[in-house]
Amino acid sequence: MAGKKPHPPEASCSFCGRPRSAVKTLIAGPDGLNICDECVDICSTMVKRPEAKARAGEPAPVARLQVPKPHEIHAKLDEFVVGQDRVKKVLAVAVHNHYKRVKSRLAGKADDGVEIEKSNILMLGPTGCGKTLLARTLARILDVPFSISDATTITEAGYVGEDVENVLLRLIRAADGDVPRAELGIVYIDEIDKIARRMENVSITRDVSGEGVQQGLLKILEGTIASVPPQGGRKHPQQEMIQINTENILFICGGAFVGLDDIVKRRVGKGVIGFESESEQRKKPKSNPVLPAVEPEDLVKFGLIPEFVGRIPVVAALEALTEADLIRILTEPKNAMIRQYQKLLAMEGVDLEFTPGALRELAREAVRRETGARGLRALLENIMLDVMYEAPRRQSAGRYVIGENVVRGHENALETLAKAAPKPAPPAADKPLEAAG
Ligand code: ADP
Repeated sequence: MAGKKPHPPEASCSFCGRPRSAVKTLIAGPDGLNICDECVDICSTMVKRPEAKARAGEPAPVARLQVPKPHEIHAKLDEFVVGQDRVKKVLAVAVHNHYKRVKSRLAGKADDGVEIEKSNILMLGPTGCGKTLLARTLARILDVPFSISDATTITEAGYVGEDVENVLLRLIRAADGDVPRAELGIVYIDEIDKIARRMENVSITRDVSGEGVQQGLLKILEGTIASVPPQGGRKHPQQEMIQINTENILFICGGAFVGLDDIVKRRVGKGVIGFESESEQRKKPKSNPVLPAVEPEDLVKFGLIPEFVGRIPVVAALEALTEADLIRILTEPKNAMIRQYQKLLAMEGVDLEFTPGALRELAREAVRRETGARGLRALLENIMLDVMYEAPRRQSAGRYVIGENVVRGHENALETLAKAAPKPAPPAADKPLEAAG
């Protein structure tokens, strides 16, 4: 078939074959050879492969694995995550048991016929309430590789999208190509509710049924030796594959599961649920008092296939964050958002303070936006922009006191500057903060 070629062919990666338009960066080499950014990544991963490290005499990853007790995991989670107490307990127990099981399996403890089954975890809860943060913090506590994937990008073979194995590729990359270490890692799969089978009352924007994706995920969740294409994307028959055993990988799935509360309510009967006063509802948007009562059958009704539900036996329902939680999130965690701004400005010799009224107003606005703690970050970025822009230029010590007026947009944060005296002249430093700015 001698087709006409009206345009010169598009340059493509000589390794994975993808055209320039399908990759972020294409680096040109001699003789018309090219390599794309992802293949560069893969090559570097392969060069750093575990054999080299093993040769260097490092102990096997499992030997280094420390398994903290549930109360220790809970205490560590408290340092980074506000509220969600019950969920922290559920996670602490599940994660402790998971890694205890892994250690005993890999240490080849005597087989007494009792096989402890793997318990992957499902977290339900509205956006911005801490699902990803909890999963990430668990990985940090355990010191294991961690990766995040979005279930909506995975599609069945034959459709545009990624193969299920890409979920594992991200983990291998997070482990710097060290497959044995990746085999002990934690994978967080977000938006798992979006691969539910189509239902009338659940809005799903994908055109492809999620069932095939659930089938694909099922295999890696239950434990298999998966072949992962090092380039990502779709598998090609002639590629070299990375083999990875998923038996000991902990999968944590998360999603908002909008509409699931109605399914639970229908099952349990409305009368049992109780209700919240209006003011409670205002402080707790989209809080679902019924979600903790979720049963596997509800998830099946929602559109997850029974086998998939069977592979995620630990279900933890997160609460929507209240105003009080959001205020704590602003100030309390080790890397609280306000502390981060304070640290940045301290480098310019500038102090930053938020009045209690400002904190309350920020939290209120975030509740109104219904984006959980995510809304806080956006609000703060907006309020602090001018200060962050000017402070490095002004190079003078001072103190910004952000009040609720600023949060409401009635005053610019820059106007709240209470000038401190230049460093060598102490007396003016006692000036009351409110008096200036
Ligand atoms: P999601 O539930 O949508 O996965 P995330 O965990 O990604 O939400 O939260 C987004 C950001 O909001 C986090 O990175 C963190 O800064 C903040 N955040 C959310 N929930 C909490 C919480 N419970 N405690 C402390 N920070 C939180």
